[in-house]
Amino acid sequence: MAEIKVHALRKEFGDFVAVQESSFTIEDGEFFVMLGPSGCGKTTTLRMIAGLELPSSGEILLDGEDVTFNRASERDIAFMFQLFALYPHMNVRKNIGFPLKCQGVGGRELRQRVEETAKLLRIDHLLNQPVSRLAGGDRQRVALGRAIIRRPKAFLMDEPLGALDTEFRELMTEELRRLHNRMKATTLYVTHDQLEAMSMADRIMVMNHGVIEQLATPQEIYDRPATRFVADFIGSPAMSFLEFESAIEPGQTSVAVNGAQVQVPALHETREPGPLTLGVRPEHVAFDDSATLRGRIFGTEYLGTTQVVTVDTDHGQIRARISAAHPVSPGETVGMTLRSDRLVVFAGDDGRALASDLYQGGTGAAHG
Ligand code: ATP
Repeated sequence: MAEIKVHALRKEFGDFVAVQESSFTIEDGEFFVMLGPSGCGKTTTLRMIAGLELPSSGEILLDGEDVTFNRASERDIAFMFQLFALYPHMNVRKNIGFPLKCQGVGGRELRQRVEETAKLLRIDHLLNQPVSRLAGGDRQRVALGRAIIRRPKAFLMDEPLGALDTEFRELMTEELRRLHNRMKATTLYVTHDQLEAMSMADRIMVMNHGVIEQLATPQEIYDRPATRFVADFIGSPAMSFLEFESAIEPGQTSVAVNGAQVQVPALHETREPGPLTLGVRPEHVAFDDSATLRGRIFGTEYLGTTQVVTVDTDHGQIRARISAAHPVSPGETVGMTLRSDRLVVFAGDDGRALASDLYQGGTGAAHG
C-alpha cells in the first residue's frame, strides 16, 4: 500500500480556479475522506490523483515517486465511482475477475483470487449469477470486488454509495469500513454527506470553493471547527451562530453577547472592534431560569428522547437539544447557559475560528 502526497496542486478550467494550491498527505493505510458541497473541487482533486485530469500546477507523489504526469494506467490505483459500470452480459465471477484477466492472470490463481475476494465481500454464493439480476447493494459489492482484486497501491472512491437507497447505503458504509479495517488499503473517499464522512474517516479534509478549510480527525473537526463554514457544514442539527460586535485582546476569556457576559475558550489575538460570531452546538445549551442570556422560544422539534428547541435572541437563533420531557411553550422567555469550553468565536470577515490553529484556507498547507 502507499502514501499519497499532494503538493501545491492547482486546477484551472479557463479563468475558473476549481482547486486552489492544496497540499496534503494521505498516510499509508489511511481511510481519508474529502468532504464538501457540490462544486467545491473534490472530484477534480480525486481525478488529478487518479491521473484522469492533468493539474495546472503542483505535484502528486505516490510512495515518494512523482506520478504527476503519469497516465492513470501507470499509477497502480483502483477507482470506483457512483455509477458502477459492470459488464451486464457477464456473471459475478467474470466481472470480478476481469481486471486480473486483463493482466494475464488465469487458471487456478484467477479462480482462487476471485473466490477470496467474493468471500471477503460476502457474495461468494452469487458467483454464478448474472449481474443484471443483482440488487443494488450486491452490484456495488461486485464493483468493489473488481476494484480490490488487483490489490492496487490505493483506492479512490467518488461517492460510490450515492446511487443506493438509504438502507443499503448504511449497510455498505459499515461494510466498507470493516473491509478497510481488514485490508488497511490507502483509501481516498469523496462524499458530500457529512454523516458518511464522520462514520468512516480516519481523517476528513473539508473543502469549499476549491480551498481546504480543515484537515483533521472527525472528532477534532466536530469539536474544534477551524472555520465557520466547517462548523456549519458538520453536525445535525447544525451549530447556532450569534452575530455580535466586539474588540478582542489576547488572553480574553469572555465576550458580551445579547446583554450577557459569555465565558469562551481563551482568545489569542488583538482585533479592533468589529463583527464576530459566537458558535454553539445544540447539545451545549441548557435552560436555566437564572441565566442572564435570554431569549424567546420560537418552536420545538421532537426527536423522541430529546427535542430541539429554537430560541430567538436579538443576535440570532439558538437551537438547544434538551430532554423531550422538559415542557416548553412557544413565546415563553427562557434563560440559557452555554458550555463555555465548547464555544467557538469566529472572525466576522474570513470566518476563521479565533482560538483555533487549524484553519487551512489560503495557506496551502494542510494541518496533520
Ligand atoms: P460534485 O459533487 O458536484 O461533483 P465536486 O466538489 O466534486 O462537486 P468538481 O466536480 O471537482 O466538484 O467541480 C469543481 C468545479 O469545477 C465546479 O464548479 C465544476 O463546474 C468545475 N468543473 C469541473 N470539471 C470541469 C470541466 N471539465 N470544465 C469546466 N469546469 C469544470
